[in-house]
Amino acid sequence: MTAEIIDGKKIAEKIINDLKSKVKNLKEKPGLALVLVGNNPASEIYVNFKEKDSKEVGLYCERFNLDKDINEMDLLKLVNDLNQKTNIHGILVQLPLPKQIDANLIIDSILPHKDVDGFTPLNLGNLVSENTILAPATARAVLYLIESTGMEIKGKNAVVVGRSNTVGKPTAMMLLEKNATVTICHSKTKNLAEHTKKADILVVACGKPRLVTKDMVKQGSVVIDVGINREGGKLIGDVDFESVKEVAGYITPVPGGVGPMTRAMLLQNTLKAMELAKR
Ligand code: NAD
Repeated sequence: MTAEIIDGKKIAEKIINDLKSKVKNLKEKPGLALVLVGNNPASEIYVNFKEKDSKEVGLYCERFNLDKDINEMDLLKLVNDLNQKTNIHGILVQLPLPKQIDANLIIDSILPHKDVDGFTPLNLGNLVSENTILAPATARAVLYLIESTGMEIKGKNAVVVGRSNTVGKPTAMMLLEKNATVTICHSKTKNLAEHTKKADILVVACGKPRLVTKDMVKQGSVVIDVGINREGGKLIGDVDFESVKEVAGYITPVPGGVGPMTRAMLLQNTLKAMELAKR
C-alpha cells in the first residue's frame, strides 16, 4: 500500500483564490503588520513569504525590519502603536526574538483581537476552553489537512509529537475539541514508537529530521509532518517520507504540505481579525 499524498500546496491555492475574491469585494482592506527583529535567515524567509502572500491576496501590509539590538521598550512601543492603528487589523511579531527581549512580554502586549498568530495567553486560553477566537495558523493548517482526507476525527487515537506552545499544544487542543483521544509526546517521552504506533492520526512537530520511521507508524493512518529542517540545501520533514508512505494511508510532503497551508491560514486569520474589529 502506498499512502495518498495530501497536496497542501493545492489546497492552499484554492483557499488563497477564495480569499482574493473576498478581499476584492471589500471596501476596506484587511491590514497586516509584520514585525521582523534582526536577521535570522529562516525568519527573513518566513516574513518575505508572509509579505508576498498578503500582497497577492490584496491585503494592506506594513513591514517593520528592526535592528537585532533593539531594546524591549522600543519594540513594546511599536506594538502599542500598531494596536492603536485602525488600518492594521493583524499584528505578527516573527519569533524567535533576540535574547535581550522577553518574547512572552511582547506577544502579551498584542491586542488579542489583532493577534493573528493566536499566541497571546488569552487566545491560547480560549482555545483550551473551546471558545476559539484566533487560533494558531499551523494548528489550523494541520486540522484542515486531516479533515481534507475525509477521515472523521471523532473517537480516533491522535498522537502529537512535540509540545510547543505555538504548534504541538494548540494542535493537540484542537484535536481534543474534535473528540479525538489525544496523546502528546515530547523529548522526554519514553519509547516514542509505542505511542506513535497506536495513532490513527499522527502529527509530528519536533524539528528532528526523519525522526519518525516506517516501523513507528500504524497501517492506514493519517500522518501530518509539520517539521521543517534544512539538510544539504534541501527542506526535509520530521517524518521519513519515503519509508512512511509505504504504510500510512495519507501523508503530507515537506515541502508542499503544512507550510503553504499555514501561510493560507494566517491570511484567513487576518480577515477574521478585521471582522473582530467591527464587533
Ligand atoms: P520547538 O523546538 O519549539 O518544539 C519542539 C518540540 O518537540 C518540543 O516540545 C520537544 O519536547 C519535542 N521534541 C524534540 N525532540 C523530540 C524527540 N526526539 N522525540 C519527541 N519529541 C521531541 O519547535 P516548534 O516551533 O514546535 O516546531 C517544530 C517543527 O515544526 C520545527 O521543525 C519547525 O521548523 C516546524 N514548524 C513548521 C511550521 C509550518 O508551517 N510547516 C510552523 C511552525 C513550525
